[in-house]
Amino acid sequence: MEKFEQKFEEKKEKTVNSDIKVRKSSILKVVGATPEREEIIKKRFEKKFEEGGSHISEREKTAEEIELIEELNKYLSEFVNKYSGEFLEIPSENICFIDHDKVDVEMKLIIENNPSMGGFFYLGKQKIIILSEAPNILILAGTLVHEMLHFNSYQSITKGEGGSKKRKMGIRMFSDKMIYYNYLDEAIIEELAKRFDKLYFHKMPILQQEIASRKKIVDSLLNSSMVLDVTKDLAEDARHVSIEQKDGGGKRRRFFTRPYSMERQRLKKLIEDIYLKNKEKFSSEEDVFNIFAESVFGRHALKLARLIKNTYGQGAFRTIGETFGEKRA
Ligand SMILES: [Zn+2]
Repeated sequence: MEKFEQKFEEKKEKTVNSDIKVRKSSILKVVGATPEREEIIKKRFEKKFEEGGSHISEREKTAEEIELIEELNKYLSEFVNKYSGEFLEIPSENICFIDHDKVDVEMKLIIENNPSMGGFFYLGKQKIIILSEAPNILILAGTLVHEMLHFNSYQSITKGEGGSKKRKMGIRMFSDKMIYYNYLDEAIIEELAKRFDKLYFHKMPILQQEIASRKKIVDSLLNSSMVLDVTKDLAEDARHVSIEQKDGGGKRRRFFTRPYSMERQRLKKLIEDIYLKNKEKFSSEEDVFNIFAESVFGRHALKLARLIKNTYGQGAFRTIGETFGEKRA
């Protein structure tokens, strides 16, 4: 086995996965530390997670937002365990909504460098930061699920001389110069968020009204012979679709698209191709997706590495990691 693949595997495969597994912080492994040292570092992250605490740039959450977070957690446990992940409940204390009138220097820089980012998972602080005010509760729910899935993804750090460094997050692998699989990880996370939306959003009382309104608009588009296929795809994929009044009268549809659309297209093509080349091993493309999804939660990482190697040859796993990767400054 190649060293690169070994590094990707990292965690021992579990033989039993029927039990509901839980964790106390997002960090599951510390590499390069003695078992005692690993425990100390993990405890430090657990403490950070438990403390929650408020952020200097945080605004108060509404009752509706708190209810939404509770509802999402309720179903996330089942969903994460379905993909063999170890569930971490994320209380509203660990989710921070930024008040743009009181941002500190650090947050100001993050916002300036990422103008279109709705939110992010802050590993070091064990928090989710929500940067922009969502125009609709379905869009907020979409952003929250995406970040809560990052939070629940497999994570490890390396203990070094000058402190700890990120090692793996989902299927991302961090080196000094490159984050391998960065965008593939994002694509899988958003595809998971989409599946979560379809499975559970309609069950949540707080979302039911908006789900019904979205369904009405999307169904009318899907059933119309006047609508182009490309618009139907857009409607089916969107986090939300609304009808708005135009300035000069009349109405128009507005699609609130899911992020990482290009990366998700590339993932789809990769899955289609792997499925075609390994038809005897899988009964559907979704089976192939499941291998990618389980790798994000730390299981079957070696299975994914081997599948790619056996399909595309020696070295392909690394190359794909680079093409979906991001160079670090
Ligand atoms: Zn993301």
